[in-house]
Amino acid sequence: MHRSLLPLLMLAVTACAGGSTLTTPASRAPAHPAPDAQRAPDPAPIAGTTDASDAGNAPAQPAADPPAHDPAYSNESEDEPLDDSGGNGAPGYLGHGTKTPDPLAGMTTQQIEKTLLDSPDKLGSISVGSCDAGALFNGVQMPPGEHWTRVDASHEWGTQETIDDLVRCIEHVNRKFPGSPQMYIGHVSARHGGHLVPHVSHQSGRDVDVSYYYKPDRQRWYRYATRDNLDLPRTWAFVRAVITLTDVKLLIIDRAIQKIIKDYALSIGEDRAWLDDIFRGRPGKLRPLIIHAPGHRTHIHVRFYSPKAQARARRVYPLLVHHHLIRPPTYYVTHMVKKGETLAQLARHYHTTVQAIQRANGLRSTLIHAKKEYRIPRHGGVAASGALRLPPRRLPPSEPLAGRAGAAPGS
Ligand SMILES: [Zn+2]
Repeated sequence: MHRSLLPLLMLAVTACAGGSTLTTPASRAPAHPAPDAQRAPDPAPIAGTTDASDAGNAPAQPAADPPAHDPAYSNESEDEPLDDSGGNGAPGYLGHGTKTPDPLAGMTTQQIEKTLLDSPDKLGSISVGSCDAGALFNGVQMPPGEHWTRVDASHEWGTQETIDDLVRCIEHVNRKFPGSPQMYIGHVSARHGGHLVPHVSHQSGRDVDVSYYYKPDRQRWYRYATRDNLDLPRTWAFVRAVITLTDVKLLIIDRAIQKIIKDYALSIGEDRAWLDDIFRGRPGKLRPLIIHAPGHRTHIHVRFYSPKAQARARRVYPLLVHHHLIRPPTYYVTHMVKKGETLAQLARHYHTTVQAIQRANGLRSTLIHAKKEYRIPRHGGVAASGALRLPPRRLPPSEPLAGRAGAAPGS
């Protein structure tokens, strides 16, 4: 039974709405109207698999993402070697700027293909593409927990690594500060990734929105953070845990709040140079781990690496495309021409050009015939992931290595 493949089919339907150039909530309506004459390979929506079914019951998550054109934030190229040589990683440590091991290395392509078709769950979480144009396969839902509240559980699906990392950091805060209020967990990704209103990112199971920690009785989702209402010890403990205990790619925190948190960290004796690297980076050498974007005074956005889920995606991607389980950046739909339709109309309808349709069908003229099928090129699928080179984890000089496996409980 290919039950777990069905969601990916859904993804194929929805992925085209997540164009990476969309920048504002208002413009994030599907870029292409559903073409009525469109046929296979668009599978029909399957009842019960849509993620939007209970979105209406959940507290709305206000628009939160920074603009996609922010180079610090959008569609980062993960295949580029990252110049993060200033970290404190040691040889042999997972985060030491090394290529991450391929969890599917023991399988041949044929074995992966058979598993994909017979029991895809066995492949584990797969984070395909980028955070701005991606998909999630075999996602894991944020579980209920004593120390957090899920704001919108139906849109809190991540890779196994994302969920593990998030839980580890919250539990760390609670070990350090027993009796902490529950952290609110906002959106992670939709069950199968892809476009998630109102975000540009959150598409591949590696982005998480969480609340700050506030002073007693002030804990509320989307509360505007200030120097007066923030619980700085807990908020810093969380941010510090994300940085030291996980493979985090970036955190987004409002600039004003960054200053408050950094001042607090200095006041309790954290290393100034380490903090500068985290909050400011070194121009041209080391990018900051914490960046500013508008809208992040109410919550923290965390983007994790998922080395295993991203490595799996590299192996599985061609198979996903081959079996029409995912759409490549350019894909084709078939259109049966109705009487009176012109090539120019088709081009407008599908947001493409007359020339592109001509090329796709080997047409020398603009003449098309009723009741005949034509291939129409479309854009907006998911691109293959590049090789991931994990930067060293940025640890304070005082701290022993706290690798993924070596994170001591209670540390
Ligand atoms: Zn976010």
